[in-house]
Amino acid sequence: MTTTPSWWDLDSTTVYDVIVVGAGIIGTQTAIELVTERPELRVLLVDRGLRPTGASTRNAGFVCFGSAGELYADMKVMGREGALNIVQQRIEGLHLLLQRTQGYDIGYEENGGHELFLHHHDVLDVLDDLNDAMQRIRPGKTYERRDDLIPTFGFSPLVKSLVTIHGEGTLHSGKLMSALWHMAEDRGVRLRTGCMVESVSVQSNGVTLHCTDSLSHADLQCEHVVLATNAAGVLIDGIDVPLRMIEPARGQVVVTGPRAKQPLQGSYHYDDGFYYFRSLGSRILLGGGRNTDIERERTHSFDTTSEILSVLRDALDQVIAPGENLAIEHSWAGTMGFSDDKQPHVDRLHERLTRAFGCNGMGVALGANIARTTAASILKSA
Ligand SMILES: Cc1cc2nc3c(=O)[nH]c(=O)nc-3n(C[C@H](O)[C@H](O)[C@H](O)COP(=O)(O)OP(=O)(O)OC[C@H]3O[C@@H](n4cnc5c(N)ncnc54)[C@H](O)[C@@H]3O)c2cc1C
Repeated sequence: MTTTPSWWDLDSTTVYDVIVVGAGIIGTQTAIELVTERPELRVLLVDRGLRPTGASTRNAGFVCFGSAGELYADMKVMGREGALNIVQQRIEGLHLLLQRTQGYDIGYEENGGHELFLHHHDVLDVLDDLNDAMQRIRPGKTYERRDDLIPTFGFSPLVKSLVTIHGEGTLHSGKLMSALWHMAEDRGVRLRTGCMVESVSVQSNGVTLHCTDSLSHADLQCEHVVLATNAAGVLIDGIDVPLRMIEPARGQVVVTGPRAKQPLQGSYHYDDGFYYFRSLGSRILLGGGRNTDIERERTHSFDTTSEILSVLRDALDQVIAPGENLAIEHSWAGTMGFSDDKQPHVDRLHERLTRAFGCNGMGVALGANIARTTAASILKSA
């Protein structure tokens, strides 16, 4: 059954100045920035899910700007400046996020990140060089070799080296998103969930969004659209620029039962970030393993798979908490979006259409920065 919109709907709920599609970290903060700078703007934030259903409510809650291993690898691919530039954007995003959410409980703790190495890695020989390079972004020592901590965290002897990342933290992703949605609504953003944008038509005098929910369809009108849909594509008519590719990558996560003793503090990862874990009270949250089947994990599906859950089980038993045989009590999946150049993008596809994306699996901190750039670009021309 579908219903047509009433006269009242057409008259009062379908016309906006800006519609932001996607109520994740980028979309919600873009909407907040817009109404904070220009309270008179009619801003609508829509999401296809009953609750927004992308990466922002399904991640691990690491507020990270990049490990030594990642910086080292990125420097090889994008050059020293390119790699440092992204780290700087993440650190700026982190500060912005904390400033924005001051007074809200988002469960943030600056408890440090840790990169584990199961084998020797060249990055261990160049930590001083990386710290020097980081000085202009973050004074002091960012990366510190701390093999002495390995036994205190209870890891297996497979873990040979450990580098602490000073300045990183963790937060509660559910509390963060609730805080951002409340903030958006308090400042006058209209939030509509369960609203799937099927396609967008850009005309010279405005934009029409063709939307559906389970009961109805509606054409929403606005002056400008922001697409903040991460790896999910939206059909667009009326523009002739090619869209930059963004690849989906499924991330699967498990939460264990409680441990008798919890030695973990902060965030941890290994194998070039393909495995990541942290404490959740007395439990462990662990995600990753998609490198064991990269092709199959290149999907929008939110299903978990027995293969990846078994890989995560092995990581718990062999590396993280050997001998504890912890139960896996909960599991879920989310979708990361990877841009082809690993850079964040705010693409102005048309004077009325902006697309913001490219967190590349690390958007908790970076998203705030992307949102600020997106809003600024729209306000400049509004
Ligand atoms: C398992 C996992 C673990 C992660 N861990 C971390 C971490 O610890 N630290 C970190 O920094 N990053 C992490 N990330 C990445 C981080 O969560 C993302 O980079 C970030 O959330 C991306 O935000 P976004 O706003 O771009 O996208 P999303 O949060 O995905 O938001 C996009 C929204 O668009 C909506 N949407 C899509 N299409 C439509 C449509 N047609 N109509 C209406 N709505 C639509 C979706 O429902 C979704 O809510 C992780 C990601 C995953 C999946």
